[in-house]
Amino acid sequence: MFIVFGASSAEAPVKDGLSLVKWCPKCDCNTVMTEWRVEEYSTLFFIRLSTTPRGDSYLKCQRCSTSYVLTDRDFRDAGRSQPHQQDILRCIKCGKKMRVPIMEETLEVTCPHCKAVLLCEKDT
Ligand SMILES: [Zn+2]
Ligand SMILES: [Zn+2]
Repeated sequence: MFIVFGASSAEAPVKDGLSLVKWCPKCDCNTVMTEWRVEEYSTLFFIRLSTTPRGDSYLKCQRCSTSYVLTDRDFRDAGRSQPHQQDILRCIKCGKKMRVPIMEETLEVTCPHCKAVLLCEKDT
């Protein structure tokens, strides 16, 4: 059953997110990359009800805006430890890799690359 709430998503830089200098294959040079994530919020009569971080964060090249999957090394290079354990999944729609939290059960995630909403089931 559908509920008539609007939902939209937007990319937003992560507050206090990672920022590091990294090799960008597309720019063919070292660039500054910062952490971004897709945020989705519900609207009811165009009033923003809530903002819930959805999907996962990723690194975005500030020069060419290409998105890259965050790796453990990125966290180490930025002097951070990873906030929580994550798995890497491949998006069934665009084929790109993304990180998802280790799943206890079926989980809905948003692909940071193509914005597809995917239902991930725990590996058994
Ligand atoms: Zn780049
Ligand atoms: Zn995708």
